[in-house]
Amino acid sequence: MRGSIRLCTVFGININIHVSFFLLLLLVLPGGIRWAVLVGSVFALVTAHELCHSLVAKVFGVHVKEITLLPIGGLASMSRMPDKPLHELAISVAGPLFNIIMLAVFFYPVRAVVGDEVLFHGFSTATWPHTIAYIYWINLVLAGFNMLPAFPMDGGRVLRSILAIKLGNLRATRIAAWIGRLFAVLFAASGLINLNVVLIAVGVFIYISASAEEIQAAAAYYLSDKGRMQ
Ligand code: ZN
Repeated sequence: MRGSIRLCTVFGININIHVSFFLLLLLVLPGGIRWAVLVGSVFALVTAHELCHSLVAKVFGVHVKEITLLPIGGLASMSRMPDKPLHELAISVAGPLFNIIMLAVFFYPVRAVVGDEVLFHGFSTATWPHTIAYIYWINLVLAGFNMLPAFPMDGGRVLRSILAIKLGNLRATRIAAWIGRLFAVLFAASGLINLNVVLIAVGVFIYISASAEEIQAAAAYYLSDKGRMQ
């Protein structure tokens, strides 16, 4: 992606950081060391989530060029869309599944370290145990938020792939994109009401991406034999 800097390469996939991310660092640095550790951990979890999508994509022969970290989350750039709905389903589920596995695996260890009271205290960086609990719960936020059927987010892709089995790719994409844009408007509106810039940016991003994917699906359809026969 333009305007991004390469951090490292994992499994042949470049991990890039977008320049707009440094704006976020300016906001974060005055927050202190625990806040900085929290933000670093969030982006490590986002990177691992995107790597899980990418590795499953590789299994199905879809090459992932790069993963870009943006202030609003991660983005894996695939060389092409998987042709089979079940492949897309597996690729889309892999990211949230990673976060759910993290929740399951680390529940007892984190509980043993921080105790029940801190673990169920909610989001705080008041002490190191609170920060550990916060990082643990980020997995729930990532799994939950990404599984919303807000196409082209993971949940929306899951919905599209299930619809595509019965309706074909074009109709499935049209329905998923429509629902995606509905969520985009809801995100942006609640961002405006709560003065949350990230939520507004997520809304705008989803709206534009959903429409772009719909155009792409239509182009693929009309260039295919099925489309030309009409
Ligand atoms: Zn994901």
